[in-house]
Amino acid sequence: MPEKLLFEKSKPNRKGYTLPKLDVPEQPLDKLIHPKFLRKMEPALPEISENEVVRHYIRLSTMNYHIDKGFYPLGSCTMKYNPKVNEYTASLPGFVNLHPFEPDELVQGALKLMYELGTYLKSITGMKGITLQPAAGAQGELTSLLMFRAYHNSLGKPRNIILVPDSAHGTNPASVTISGFKAVSVKSNSEGTIDIDDLKRNLNEDVAGIMITNPNTLGIFENNILEIEKLIHDAGALMYMDGANLNALLGIVRPGDMGFDAVHINLHKTFSTPHGGGGPGSGPVAVSNRLEPFLPIPQIKKMGEKYYLTFDLPKSIGKVHTFYGNFGIFVRAYTYIRMIGNDGLRQISENAIINANYLLSKLKDYFELPYKNTPMHEFVLSGEKQKQMGVKVMDIAKRLLDYGFHAPTTYFPLIVKEALMIEPTETETKETLDAFAEALIKINEEISNNPQLVLSAPQSTPVKRLDDARGTKQLNVCYKE
Ligand SMILES: *Cc1c(COP(=O)(O)O)cnc(C)c1O
Repeated sequence: MPEKLLFEKSKPNRKGYTLPKLDVPEQPLDKLIHPKFLRKMEPALPEISENEVVRHYIRLSTMNYHIDKGFYPLGSCTMKYNPKVNEYTASLPGFVNLHPFEPDELVQGALKLMYELGTYLKSITGMKGITLQPAAGAQGELTSLLMFRAYHNSLGKPRNIILVPDSAHGTNPASVTISGFKAVSVKSNSEGTIDIDDLKRNLNEDVAGIMITNPNTLGIFENNILEIEKLIHDAGALMYMDGANLNALLGIVRPGDMGFDAVHINLHKTFSTPHGGGGPGSGPVAVSNRLEPFLPIPQIKKMGEKYYLTFDLPKSIGKVHTFYGNFGIFVRAYTYIRMIGNDGLRQISENAIINANYLLSKLKDYFELPYKNTPMHEFVLSGEKQKQMGVKVMDIAKRLLDYGFHAPTTYFPLIVKEALMIEPTETETKETLDAFAEALIKINEEISNNPQLVLSAPQSTPVKRLDDARGTKQLNVCYKE
C-alpha cells in the first residue's frame, strides 16, 4: 500500500495542537501587519492530527534503507555504522547554540575542538598543515587544486595539466575541470595499478600535479607509490591523494610518508558521520610544507592556553566555505577519534581489510575477479559471465534488495565491465557477511534456474523498478501507480 501524502490525508479543521484561551484582547491581523503583506488566501497546509503525522514519518522511515536498518556494502562510500555517542556530543547545547560571529574569547571550547581535530588529522595523515573548511571530498579536491595553482603561480611558472589515473573517482576529473586545469588520463596496468610507462609518457613541464586514490578504486594499494612520487616531484609537479579510502590505511601508512602534498579526508566516511542522504559532509585537506602558505583562511592557532583565528596568511587562496566549515561534523569526528584512540584507529583498518578479503574469498568462485591483487578494504567483481546469460549487474543489484540488502556500487570503476564494487566496512559481523555472500550465491543460482526472478526484481520494496534516467529529468516525487 503506497503511503498517502499528508495533503491527501488532510481533513478540514483537524488539528495537531491545542492552545490555551487568549488572556488578552484579540487584535485584527491588519492592525499588527500592514495589509499589503497579508495573504489574500489561506495557505494550503495539511490539517492533520499529531499521531497521524508521527505515524506517517515512521512509516516513511521504514520504507527507506539506511545503515541503522541493515548492511550497506556500497563500494567507495564507506557506509559503516555511526556510533550514537557522536550524535549525543554533536547535540550538546554548548555546541548547538554557538553563533559563528561570537568572538574568540567566548568560543574557546569550539576553537580547541577544531584545533585538536586538525592536530589529530595531521598526525593520522603525516602532514604539516590543515584546513577543515571544505564541505565534502569533492570540495577538498577543488580546494587542493586551487592551492596547486597558487603554488605554481608563486614560482612564476603556471602549469595547466593534472594527471588522473583511469581508475579515479568521477569527482577527480570533474574537480580538475572546475578548477580550470585540463585532465589527462593515465592508464592502469594489468595489475590494476598505475602504468608507470604511460605516466612517464604523459609527464612534462605543463603538468601541475597528479591525483591518486590510494588504495585505488579497485581497493588495490599502489605499491609503486614511491617511484611515482619521485617521478612527479622531479618533474616539479605536486602529489594529490584522494583520501576518501583512508579507511584502509589508518595507523598503517600515512599519505605524508608516501610523499603526498595534499590529501582530502572524508570525515563523513572514515570518521563516522551519517551520510548518503544529501546531508552535510566534511572534507578537510591536509597539506605538506610546500602548500602550507596557500591554505584557506582563517587558520586556528594556539598561544599558551588560548586559541584564536588568524586571517594573516598573505598567500592564502581565501575562503572556501562560510565561517569554518560544517562544525557539527567536526564534533562527531572528534568524538569518534577520542573514543577509539590510537590503537583503535589501526584496528578500524585491519578489520575493514579482513572483512573485505573474507567476503571476497566467499564470492570469487561465483563472479569474475578481473584484477587479482589482494585488495584492501574493498574489491571489485565483474558480472560479465552473468551478462552472457542475459542478466546484467543492475538486475543482480535489484534482486539483492529482495534479499533485504542494499546493493553494492555498480558500473564503477569504469575500467571493470559490469562492475560490482563491494565495501563491507569494519563494523559488520561474520554472520552478516556470510548472509550477504549467501544471497549473492543464491542469486547466481537463480540466474541459471529462474532468471525471470532476477530480471523482474525488486518485488518486495515499496516501489518497484524505477526509470532512473527519467527520474533525473522529471523530479516529481509524488507516488503514481
Ligand atoms: C566519496 C568519494 C569522493 C567524493 O567525496 P564527497 O564527499 O562525496 O564529495 C571522492 N573520491 C572517492 C574515492 C570517494 O569515495
